[in-house]
Amino acid sequence: MNRLRVPFNRPSIVGNELEYLSDTLRRGHISGDGHYTKLCHALLEAELGVPKVLLTTSCTHALEMCALLLALTPGDEVIFPSFAFVTTVNAFVLRGVKPVFVDVREDTLNLDERAVEARITTHTRGIVALHYAGVGCELDELVASAARHGMPLVEDNAHGLFGRYRGRWLGTFGALATQSFHETKNFSCGEGGALLINDRRYVERAEILRDKGTDRSRFLRGEVQKYQWVDVGSSWLPADLLAAYLLAQLERREAIQARRRTLWKRYERVLGPWAERLGARLPVVPAHCDSSWHIFHLLLASNEQRDRLIRHLDEHRVLAVFHYLPLHLSPMGVAAGGRPGDCPVAEDVSSRILRLPLFESLTDKEQDWVLAALLEFDG
Ligand SMILES: *Cc1c(COP(=O)(O)O)cnc(C)c1O
Repeated sequence: MNRLRVPFNRPSIVGNELEYLSDTLRRGHISGDGHYTKLCHALLEAELGVPKVLLTTSCTHALEMCALLLALTPGDEVIFPSFAFVTTVNAFVLRGVKPVFVDVREDTLNLDERAVEARITTHTRGIVALHYAGVGCELDELVASAARHGMPLVEDNAHGLFGRYRGRWLGTFGALATQSFHETKNFSCGEGGALLINDRRYVERAEILRDKGTDRSRFLRGEVQKYQWVDVGSSWLPADLLAAYLLAQLERREAIQARRRTLWKRYERVLGPWAERLGARLPVVPAHCDSSWHIFHLLLASNEQRDRLIRHLDEHRVLAVFHYLPLHLSPMGVAAGGRPGDCPVAEDVSSRILRLPLFESLTDKEQDWVLAALLEFDG
C-alpha cells in the first residue's frame, strides 16, 4: 500500500541557510540588527524600492507597530476586511481601535473597495487591506479613497511578497506595509516579519518603537552621543540567527516563486474540468495582477461538499485546510457590533473554501497524489 502522506506545509532548506547560521555564530553576534539583518534590509529595500525596511519578530508585531505609528487611540475607527487573519485586526484593537468590517469581493476575496466609502465616518483613521493569497486588492481605488479622506492605507502583505498590481510590487502602495516570515509563508525563518515604510515620515519613530522606545539606532549610526528612553516601544528585533536563515531564503526568491507558480498552474490546469463538474470554483487572478502564488484554494459548491472533500482527502492522507472564519462573527467581532448578514460574501466564502497543499518542497509525485485524490471525488 502506498504510504504517501502529503502535509499542508513543510519548511525547506533552499540555499545557504545552514552556512549563514553557522556564520552568525562565528561572528559572535546573534542578537538583533547584526550582519544578516542588515543584508535582509538592504535586499528588500533594493528589490522592492522601499525607502526603509525593518525586520520584526512577526507580521503581527509589524502590524502593532503600524497602529502605534498611526497614533491610533481608543475610539478611532479603522476599516478592515472581515475575511482576514485575526492579528490583521487585533494589532489595532490592542490600541483601543474600533474595527469596522467591510465585505470582500467575490472574485479575489479581497477587501471590496466599492464598499469602503460608505463605511467611512468622522472617526475613521485608516484602511487596512490584505492581499489575499498574494493577489492584489484594487489598489487604485483604495489608494484614492485613503487619499481623499487624508488617511493612511496599510497593506497586510503577509501573503503577497513579490506579487504585483499593475506591474508594481505589493507592499509599496500603502504608507506602511507588513510581511510575515512565519513557517507557512513563501519565505520563512520560523517566526518573523518585516515593516515596509513607504512614507518616510514614519522612519525615525519606527526605529525607536522597535528598539524598546530608545534612540539606539541613531546612537549606533553615531548621530547621538548616548542612547536614551525617548518614547513608548517594545522589543521587536528578531535575532540575527533568524535573519541569517531568512536571507538564504530571500536570495533564492526566483527559484522559490518559480516552483510555487509551477505547482499552482498545474493545480489550475488539471482541476479545471473537474471543478466545473462539481460546481466548484478555482481562484481568480485578474489580468492586471501578478500573484505571489501563496495559496491555491477551491470554493466548493456548498459547505457540506467542502467538508466531505476534506474527509475524502484525509482518507487519502492529504491534509487540506480551510480558514478565516469571518471576523465580524467571532466573539470579539460580535462584541464590536458584528451581526450575521453584515458581510455576506465573507460569510459564504468562509463556509466553502478549501486550501490545497502548496509549498516549495512539494514534489511532483506528491502533487500527483493530491490531484489523483481530488479527481476521484465526485461531489
Ligand atoms: C500569517 C499572517 C499574519 C501573521 O503573521 P505572523 O508573522 O505569524 O505574525 C498576519 N496577516 C496575515 C494575512 C497572515 O497570513
